[in-house]
Amino acid sequence: AIEMVDVDKWFGDFQVLKGINLTVRTGDRVVVCGPSGSGKSTVVRCINQLEQHQKGVIKVGGVTLDGSAAAQEAIRSEVGMVFQQFNLFPHLSVMENLVLGPMKSRGLSRKEAEARARKYLDRVRIPEQADKRPSQLSGGQQQRVAIARSLCMEPRVMLFDEPTSALDPEMISEVLDVMIELAEEGMTMVVVTHEMGFARKVADQMVFMDAGEIVETGPPAEFFANPKSERCRTFLNQIL
Ligand code: ATP
Ligand code: MG
Repeated sequence: AIEMVDVDKWFGDFQVLKGINLTVRTGDRVVVCGPSGSGKSTVVRCINQLEQHQKGVIKVGGVTLDGSAAAQEAIRSEVGMVFQQFNLFPHLSVMENLVLGPMKSRGLSRKEAEARARKYLDRVRIPEQADKRPSQLSGGQQQRVAIARSLCMEPRVMLFDEPTSALDPEMISEVLDVMIELAEEGMTMVVVTHEMGFARKVADQMVFMDAGEIVETGPPAEFFANPKSERCRTFLNQIL
């Protein structure tokens, strides 16, 4: 579903990504971890074209991301993204947040879009919150609305960038539970997170980044039991 080959990126003189190689097959769940500033967000932002890479190749659904209209279309139809900050429209109700995308860029009627929105609000277990504004919801509820909003576009891949790190501790599991269900349904997912319990449960592939490089990858059992590099071992000791 996603292929990154020798991807480099700079911010000015600063090389933020150094030769990133990453393959995410359909149905894969990849969890990315690593210290602050290591480039995790930049990787996912390059995958959905919020940032442009300067060297190497990124393909999503077989389409090469080269800034063309075809590439934009591929991103829009394939990739959903959930951020640390929920990025909901504060002046719109939950329902309006959910129907906007499908009506505007999927050509659904209001009736169809609302039916779809209700389906995904059910899925994230907040069917009763449709008429509220985001500010009237808890953080965990807002993040579940953000997940539902992405799902309303029916993407083939979901990217999550630290979706629980802005949440109070008691709300983390309600969001992770929704993500675990998505994983169990077979959604292709790339998740930047330090929630290692979640990672052990759902990941097929762990990725450890440091200083713009992928330092280590592997299946979680091996990754956690036997980190090969000193940098990864040190990192895991700090967070586990
Ligand atoms: P965190 O765990 O703190 O979210 P991260 O691994 O997601 O970190 P990135 O946000 O990808 O890291 O940033 C990687 C590096 O790139 C950091 O040193 C950051 O300061 C730098 N950086 C990120 N965005 C920009 C930008 N728009 N302009 C310049 N430098 C940037
Ligand atoms: Mg980040």
